[in-house]
Amino acid sequence: MTIDETDATSFHWLVDMLESVEVGLVIIDLDFRVQAWNGFMEHHSGISASKIRDRVLFDVFPDIPRAWLTRKVDSVAMLNTRAFTSWEQRPYLFKFRNTRPITDTEEFMFQNLTISPLSGTNGQVEKVCLMVYDVTDIATSKRALEKANEQLEKLSMTDRLTGLLNRGTWENLIDAEYERNRRYGHPTCLVMFDIDHFKPVNDTHGHLAGDEVIKYTADVVRKSLRQSDIPGRYGGEEFGIILPETDAEGAKTICERIRETIEKSTVKTTVADIQYTVSIGIAPLTDGPENYMQWLQQADQALYAGKAGGRNRVVVFGEEYM
Ligand code: GH3
Ligand code: MG
Ligand code: MG
Repeated sequence: MTIDETDATSFHWLVDMLESVEVGLVIIDLDFRVQAWNGFMEHHSGISASKIRDRVLFDVFPDIPRAWLTRKVDSVAMLNTRAFTSWEQRPYLFKFRNTRPITDTEEFMFQNLTISPLSGTNGQVEKVCLMVYDVTDIATSKRALEKANEQLEKLSMTDRLTGLLNRGTWENLIDAEYERNRRYGHPTCLVMFDIDHFKPVNDTHGHLAGDEVIKYTADVVRKSLRQSDIPGRYGGEEFGIILPETDAEGAKTICERIRETIEKSTVKTTVADIQYTVSIGIAPLTDGPENYMQWLQQADQALYAGKAGGRNRVVVFGEEYM
């Protein structure tokens, strides 16, 4: 065998291997015209290499995000470096059906993508190679795990961020308190409160700093209450407290203390020192509500009267400034 024949044979093997490898290989020129399209791509797209050759990728696949891919390819060509994107940023580039039997819960193939520059003999980048990896199995198991964690959280009684009772558990206890009061007629109050202008806190300082503020709020609440009081995290930045054996005056004192403590606090996060306020609504249980949900609605109405009245205040349901 001459040297040339050896070269030709290894070239043949190489092409054979690239043809059959379980990774999509696409070579495009800088005008996005397809120069090479391997077996993986043929198999999943149903389009043969001879058919797609010299065609502009976006004409054949109108779903491909053109501006995004153009930006990526331009920077790969200009900087002469590889770029990588994972399915977590963008689930797929080519919309291929998921053909894996085990992971048939997902409709489309999840893909990681590498874009590599290919230089000509003069050292200039003339083409790029797109490598498309099928990561459907990994993506599916990661998503399943996330879903399971979400369900576990629902099954657990407490909220992970604050350690307070979560909404479901807390609502069950309001129901129980409502029934108990119906039977024994002790005074009891329900409190709902919400952080004022919290969206701008997130927008300015980020979600993590926002989380710190939520956590701090929960700490203030915990420190301000008696053993028998029951705080809960109702939603994002909404909290509730059940105050058994407490009349409206007593509830006002406790809530004013919480409101004032927060107004005077500074939460020192890694990004900023944050000051904020809360609005609080109180509903003393009367004969009015026919079930615990109506009682909760009254507390909510008082809270929103507090918001409407200028925020950073405590409002009792039924009192004159409602
Ligand atoms: P208002 O004074 O009327 O209550 O204004 P607001 O900006 O607080 O209004 P709104 O209740 O609409 O905004 C709540 C924001 O809380 C929106 C949401 O992005 C954010 N949020 C909800 N849950 C969480 C969470 O767990 N962490 C963080 N950081 N933010 C959350
Ligand atoms: Mg709010
Ligand atoms: Mg809110």
